[in-house]
Amino acid sequence: MLKKIDHLGVAVRDLEAALHIFRDQLGIDVDGVEEVAEQKVKVAFLPLGESKIELLQSTDPEGPVARFIERRGEGIQHIAFRVENLEESLGRLKSKGVRLIDEKPRRGAGGARVAFIHPKSTCGVLIELCER
Ligand code: ZN
Repeated sequence: MLKKIDHLGVAVRDLEAALHIFRDQLGIDVDGVEEVAEQKVKVAFLPLGESKIELLQSTDPEGPVARFIERRGEGIQHIAFRVENLEESLGRLKSKGVRLIDEKPRRGAGGARVAFIHPKSTCGVLIELCER
């Protein structure tokens, strides 16, 4: 069901400052920057091998990324696994008793369809399922 790690989501306070580190100092190319209004974030994708780094800056102090930083500071916020069929994957997880945040797919960055699994079901790790 899970094909690969699609990306690692990193919560940052300041996207420009984070791009200075990841792009200018670490030398990872930036694929693009976009705003995802539904998730109240500005996002930059940095492809690295088969996966990507997703830098997330909140656009709203009440957004999930802002709340994450408030509680835990900057850092890895979620792991995204690539799936081929998001509805089927969600159905399978639900039938196994996994607690879902999203029962239905929503729009993610880069035109992807995404859904999140509750970290209480996954050892404290927020997992995003991502269909491209
Ligand atoms: Zn993500």
